[in-house]
Amino acid sequence: MYDLIIIGGGPGGYMAAERAGHAGLNVLLIEKRALGGVCLNEGCIPSKTLLNSAKIYDYAIHGSVYGVSVENASLDHKFVLQRKNKVVDTLVGGVKSMLKANKVTVVYGEAFILSKTDVKVGDEVYSGNRLMIASGSVPVIPPIDGLDEGLKSGFVLTSREILDLEEIPEKLVVIGGGVIGLEMASYYASAGSKVTVIEMLPKIGGTIDEEISKILLKNYQKKGIEFILGARVTGVRQGTVLCLTREQNNEPSPALPDPVLPAEPSCVLCEKALLAIGRKPAVSGFGLENTGVVIERGAIRTDQHGLTSVPNIYAVGDVNGKYMLAHAAYREAEVAVNHILGKRDVMRYDAIPSVIYTSPEVACVGETEESAKARGIDYASVTAFSARKRPLYTIGTETDAQSIPFAFAVSSVSPTHATSGDV
Ligand code: FAD
Repeated sequence: MYDLIIIGGGPGGYMAAERAGHAGLNVLLIEKRALGGVCLNEGCIPSKTLLNSAKIYDYAIHGSVYGVSVENASLDHKFVLQRKNKVVDTLVGGVKSMLKANKVTVVYGEAFILSKTDVKVGDEVYSGNRLMIASGSVPVIPPIDGLDEGLKSGFVLTSREILDLEEIPEKLVVIGGGVIGLEMASYYASAGSKVTVIEMLPKIGGTIDEEISKILLKNYQKKGIEFILGARVTGVRQGTVLCLTREQNNEPSPALPDPVLPAEPSCVLCEKALLAIGRKPAVSGFGLENTGVVIERGAIRTDQHGLTSVPNIYAVGDVNGKYMLAHAAYREAEVAVNHILGKRDVMRYDAIPSVIYTSPEVACVGETEESAKARGIDYASVTAFSARKRPLYTIGTETDAQSIPFAFAVSSVSPTHATSGDV
């Protein structure tokens, strides 16, 4: 009998395993793909590794602003991929060693929950006093005409496949202008693709502050990325993504900045399309229904200790649908293990930072002006500064066409709500 059985070896699962193992609990961790989960293998780490190469390349080609000339700078995508794979292998190896050092038993295979205490992997049944669900999340695949065929044929990619794409597509359509879509748009634009982002909302960057979203939009457009905002993708055919603007759909047009609606918006030709409209908690197909845990709006309901509606079952990370970020998963894992150990600790969600690692980078924490307004929170001020406010030695002069853009916005709202800004 294990003290704790953890399903999923991503940030939530491996952090919980390490902490619980370190505290002397007898821990079993079950992972069906690779230790490190989405974050290390097909999310945060690989995407940031690609983006770092793109950033260095962008500096090289715009270096003359600083008096640094780089002749014939080029980005070798295949080399970038190899380097990315090495980084991933190193970090996954680190997780493996760390689990071993903390005496965690790791079983590779798909876990199926039989009851509140029993989990099956293949023919083997494992029993634990407590279970922790850390099964993460999967991409949302909407019912769009032709999408399933596109995914099968490899014309449409999810974030998993695009991080391993060997050739740079001449033309790439990104469906979804949220964080993952923007990061991939930014990398592939730097690497030479002609990128078009199609987004249903009238703004990019999801919930980020509206002013910052506008700054990002301008900078991406300068980079050559095209945007079709306020538009719905209605169909996918090999080589084509079809979309309707709200006007074509006879819906009221959102307030859109020019020139985001091209003359012929209904059909975009491309070699590859990335589907990046969001992720949803992974709650089905592994026997969760045999536990009786409550699922609310597609996610496992948890309290401030990570405890589900069943007293011996915890859920941490993306699967609880709260903050789908690796550092949130780490902290939730820490809190849940502390609860198991009888230590006082609670999860707070009011100041979780998030970053969009594009060029320019955006970092946010706390409320935005819009969310403060929506929640009726009294907020003090919102100020956006232009590039002029940053020391000129780091960004060049404001008249430099190629200067690296910078903006900072502060929205300070009530004493417990902090700031949102860009670094
Ligand atoms: P996951 O990392 O999804 O791990 C869940 C694990 O459970 C998986 O390994 C899966 O194989 C395993 N599993 C599921 N079901 C079973 C089963 N039945 N049996 C056995 N194993 C199972 N977050 C950030 O904070 N910063 C970033 O920069 C960032 N960038 C991202 C970029 C991309 C492209 C993507 C897709 C995500 C990014 N994220 C980022 C989000 C981050 O990856 C997730 O928030 C984080 O991985 C969640 O950790 P987790 O442990 O909940 O789940």
